[in-house]
Amino acid sequence: MDPSKLAQSKRKYFMTSSYDSLGIKRVINANATLTKLGGSLMPEEVIQAMVEASKTFVDIHQLQQTVGQRLAELTRNEAAYVSCGAATGLLLATAACIEKKSKNAYERFPQWGKISNEVIVQKMHRNSYDYAILEAGASIVEIGNQHQTLPDELENAIRNQTIAVFWFQGAMNQPSELSLDQVIEICRPKNIPVIVDAAAQLPPASNFWNFTHQGADLAIFSGGKDLSGPQASGLILGSKELIEIISGLGAPHHGIGRPMKVGKEEMMGLLAAVERYLSLDHEQLFETYEARVTYWINELDGLKGLRAIRDYPNEAGQPVARTKVVLPESHNKDTVIQDLLQGEPMISVAPSETENALLLNPMTVKDGEPSIIKERILEVMG
Ligand SMILES: *Cc1c(COP(=O)(O)O)cnc(C)c1O
Repeated sequence: MDPSKLAQSKRKYFMTSSYDSLGIKRVINANATLTKLGGSLMPEEVIQAMVEASKTFVDIHQLQQTVGQRLAELTRNEAAYVSCGAATGLLLATAACIEKKSKNAYERFPQWGKISNEVIVQKMHRNSYDYAILEAGASIVEIGNQHQTLPDELENAIRNQTIAVFWFQGAMNQPSELSLDQVIEICRPKNIPVIVDAAAQLPPASNFWNFTHQGADLAIFSGGKDLSGPQASGLILGSKELIEIISGLGAPHHGIGRPMKVGKEEMMGLLAAVERYLSLDHEQLFETYEARVTYWINELDGLKGLRAIRDYPNEAGQPVARTKVVLPESHNKDTVIQDLLQGEPMISVAPSETENALLLNPMTVKDGEPSIIKERILEVMG
């Protein structure tokens, strides 16, 4: 056998790098851009940019800086940085605020002893991602209660050891919170950075600049949600001063950011994703989403005791409608969700927080899948 053919046949034998060869089943995602389902799917432009980037060596410092400049221009910000996810963005932003206050703080980390670095968060904004703030070595000071926060509570919480106020945007927002405008107004004169976690706040694309133009020091986005960049990428936008500190703390530098390294492929993939996102016809996408929502309503409402309605604004705080399928009392939402997930094909849908209902998300499904989902729901209802 000629040697190249032999190499090829041997390789085939050893290759198990496909989902099929490993017995991994595909999941139809009508839930959300969840990390546990693989986040989002990369469009061709992003894949191509990653493939190209993977073929040559480059100077990573130069690449990170140049990609950052280009991302800053595209997103109308002073500066930009590619992290390996929005959660890492929270960690690095916290670290930068600590360094801004005490230069070279991380040379002594984690032997800080009594040194205290406090991040203020409204109690109603607390969520499972804010652990990343603690990982940077800061502590969280809560203000307000589950139902409201008052301006005085922020004023009084700001002390010498306060390094930042974090603002979370999403399902946690309530009209009775201290608004971002109020937070900025109080923090600005005291030179306390305001950091916005906007991980899932795309669309609209204008959010790339809305929070920072409003006066936030940094806004942090996930690259692996609707932006459809590499799954392990995130975007930090805003203050040049803070982003320069972040670059110094992040890989390839050794220190607090080194374990969270970002490859050349992620940098170029995320850049391609942002360029694509800004040029998408979002109006037309909204129409596609609305058509899917309407399809599910028309096909499910009134059958097998189901009531299907348009869910807007959606519970996740995003400006896209979903279909809410209210189940009859005979069927429990958690059981139906499990049946769909364990069926053939595997289908993931979200539970409603407040009702015995399923939520179907039109953003993450592919063409052809809405009818499969409808069929399976009717089957599971028996
Ligand atoms: C998804 C999400 C994150 C984490 O984003 P990753 O890119 O997966 O790290 C952080 N904060 C909020 C509010 C999120 O919704």
